[in-house]
Amino acid sequence: MKRSDGQNRLITANWRPATQAVRGGTWRSEMGETSEALFLTSGYTYDDAATVAARFAGEADGMTYSRLQNPTVAMLEERIALLEGAEACRAQASGMAAMTTALLCQLSAGDHVVAAKAAFGSCRWLIDNLLPRFGISGTTIDASDNAAWEAAIRPHTKVFFFESPANPTMDVVDLEFVCSLARAHGITTVVDNAFATSALQRPLDFGADVVAYSATKMMDGQGRVLAGAVCGSAQFINDKLLPFQRNTGPNIAPFNAWVVLKGLETLDLRIHRQSENALKVAQFVEPRVARLLYPFLPSHPQYALAVKQMKAGGSIFSLEVPGGREQAHALLDALKLVDISNNIGDSRSLMCHPASTTHHGVGPETRTDMGVTEGMLRLNVGLEDPDDVIEDLDQALKAAGL
Ligand SMILES: *Cc1c(COP(=O)(O)O)cnc(C)c1O
Repeated sequence: MKRSDGQNRLITANWRPATQAVRGGTWRSEMGETSEALFLTSGYTYDDAATVAARFAGEADGMTYSRLQNPTVAMLEERIALLEGAEACRAQASGMAAMTTALLCQLSAGDHVVAAKAAFGSCRWLIDNLLPRFGISGTTIDASDNAAWEAAIRPHTKVFFFESPANPTMDVVDLEFVCSLARAHGITTVVDNAFATSALQRPLDFGADVVAYSATKMMDGQGRVLAGAVCGSAQFINDKLLPFQRNTGPNIAPFNAWVVLKGLETLDLRIHRQSENALKVAQFVEPRVARLLYPFLPSHPQYALAVKQMKAGGSIFSLEVPGGREQAHALLDALKLVDISNNIGDSRSLMCHPASTTHHGVGPETRTDMGVTEGMLRLNVGLEDPDDVIEDLDQALKAAGL
């Protein structure tokens, strides 16, 4: 195996993101394959006992066991790190494996976390339910309020954890402010960047320490596999994350890593086209509903900030119908082209009612606290012709009395 660039990391590192997405991190076997090879192997064999002993001792490079390294997974990790501008990356079995690993690998009993109150349901569950069981306390705040971050810091605060834009309320966090506040207090920022991806927003450029992903979403982009990733400094990944990951095993399967590698080749194209489509669809829907939240519409409360830190608005927006759950469900049931689905980042347009699906598990009080209302719907706009999506929404809105 050798790198397709003949090991010249200097040249590779200078490629622009769209080039990295297609070629970054490619290793080629002696077969000279064009497309990345899929190594479906759990173990490795060695020419002699000294070779394997040197690898286990950390004195020689090379694979030993697929919970520790796998060539296909290594290609994905290198490509994501290059796209993110990170020193290192480790792929995970799912987005939630990535979030759990990114938090647990660095937190201990007695530590405190400040987290955004609006978050993916399971991310919020980690803060509210999992961490407290291990003596790690959490404060959840309105992450769009800079003063709230400052006010929530305690002497033992170790981590800031948030999404931007957040799922599904589309709250935008001021990355530059929050990351520099964290730096000043020796706090590690963990940013869940699933909605934007590195193609639209690179949190490390704004001073973030760790970027964690559900690669299930935009990175795969075609709704096929679960995948996740954590990026950061070599020190964080090697000293904190790797010992945790190697001994607990939230690893991605090589096949899933290979699917995401192929997905990344078209990430830049897809996310820009889907953002264009989402903007067009959002502009059509906005006048028909009580409220529509899309970061690149001037009506978004943090429009100026979103435009400053993102290249485009992404594929997702949320909206509120005045008639609560009944009207939201009626709209979903009337859809003919757009699927009822709680997935996002797919090339298909998908719509869901967060209160009865993705955010059912957090309970009604937390939903109210986050701003997830009974009339809220979330739409992922895909790669279909946006006029077809608009026509479908038009008839579904009418059917629901809007
Ligand atoms: C989907 C999602 C997750 C969880 O990712 P999985 O791959 O489903 O485990 C975490 N955070 C955000 C913002 C998400 O949208």
